[in-house]
Amino acid sequence: MSADEALAAIFAAVPKPTEPEWVQLADALGRVAAEDVRSAIDLPPWDNSAMDGYALRHADVADATDQTPVPITVIGDVAAGGAPDASVGRGTAVRIATGARIPDGADSVVPVEETTPTAADGTALGPRGRDAADPLPPAILVHTRVPLGGSIRRRASDLQSGTLVLRAGTTVGRASVAIVAGAGHAALSVHRRPIVGILATGDEIRAPGAELGVSGIPDSNGPALFASVQDAGGEGRSLGIARDRIEEVRSRLSAGLAESPDAIIVSGGVSVGPYDHVRTAFSELGSISFWRAAVQPGKPFVFGTAPRPGGGVPVLLFGLPGNPVSTFVTFELFVRPALRRLGGHLDHGRPVDRAVLLDQTPKSPGRRAFVRVRADRDDRGTPVRNGEGRVIVRLVGGVSGQGSHVLSALAEAEALAVIPEGVDVHPAGGEVDIWWLGCP
Ligand code: AMP
Ligand code: MG
Repeated sequence: MSADEALAAIFAAVPKPTEPEWVQLADALGRVAAEDVRSAIDLPPWDNSAMDGYALRHADVADATDQTPVPITVIGDVAAGGAPDASVGRGTAVRIATGARIPDGADSVVPVEETTPTAADGTALGPRGRDAADPLPPAILVHTRVPLGGSIRRRASDLQSGTLVLRAGTTVGRASVAIVAGAGHAALSVHRRPIVGILATGDEIRAPGAELGVSGIPDSNGPALFASVQDAGGEGRSLGIARDRIEEVRSRLSAGLAESPDAIIVSGGVSVGPYDHVRTAFSELGSISFWRAAVQPGKPFVFGTAPRPGGGVPVLLFGLPGNPVSTFVTFELFVRPALRRLGGHLDHGRPVDRAVLLDQTPKSPGRRAFVRVRADRDDRGTPVRNGEGRVIVRLVGGVSGQGSHVLSALAEAEALAVIPEGVDVHPAGGEVDIWWLGCP
């Protein structure tokens, strides 16, 4: 199976995203909108002032200048959240705060900075532009003309009732939360997070931090898969560590299936060794769609499905080769896109860039290689680009850092560089696509 055929076969098993559920806006960040959201209201809901100032009729101050200020009588005051206590007629104004409703009769607002407060007889009560927190003056001088509608935010000028504010499939960001709240909603319909069982296998695998004894190594794949599932928008459920016995692999998988997850990921035990029982267990509990993908690392990858207890869309079964880098890379290539689809995301890939890979890099013929790279950065930390806009990248840990067991190099990687099937040795300085890994 080529990498593309493998992904297509996996996508074919993900007919639709998970069902919607409601979340309050406080819990909505990072979730995926399950339905288009439209504004329930006009925003602003009514004409309001953009400035602290005076609401008046622009015709009254059409001739106002610094030299010939126009006197206007102040007949009322309106705060944000208050209702205007007067309507504005010829030669009069209502003092108004930012966000307060425009009184009837007014068609414009003059900012307080363009006025001087006066007594009824026109004597100045303070300097021009004194702030609008002072006691309400009986009158003002207006020093400048105001355009019709000046400093008024019109009803529905931001959102009209019914305007689309969030498209289904969008990941909810902070601004999405702001607009959905502004559109009059308290909760959002989002896709349920995909639930994913995670099983490590291997007689040598020990829980992280546990005594290793003569032949143990820590389980790094279990925790890494848990984190990767979370990063992809899913919810991990640990199925523990299975010893290399078919009965144990099978029983932990059945226990995992009984929890009705959307997918199960197994690491290790998918190769051709005498202790590799995962494929057998997959075909006993469900069926295998394919085994082996033409990728490096990660060739023995296996994918299948099992019936969901109680019916419904089958559970996806992913068997990932156990070397930690193979697990990490095959998750990126095959599991993450499936979980993104399940989670209702419109996009399932990583941001792709074009780069120059400085190191000569050997690889297996006929397989698409994904090598771990870092970008050169300038002293502000920005990736350096050449004249053609290509990012400059290097292999992490050199060629020897590319071993599929080398966690130290994986931890330093920022991106995967993709070397196509047809290339046997990537030439030093040749161009490649890179997939930025975000926070790997
Ligand atoms: P396997 O795919 O089971 O043949 O394992 C390949 C290599 O990956 C072996 O060296 C295993 O010890 C190692 N390995 C398998 N599972 C894990 C794990 N959960 N954490 C760390 N290393 C693992
Ligand atoms: Mg093993």
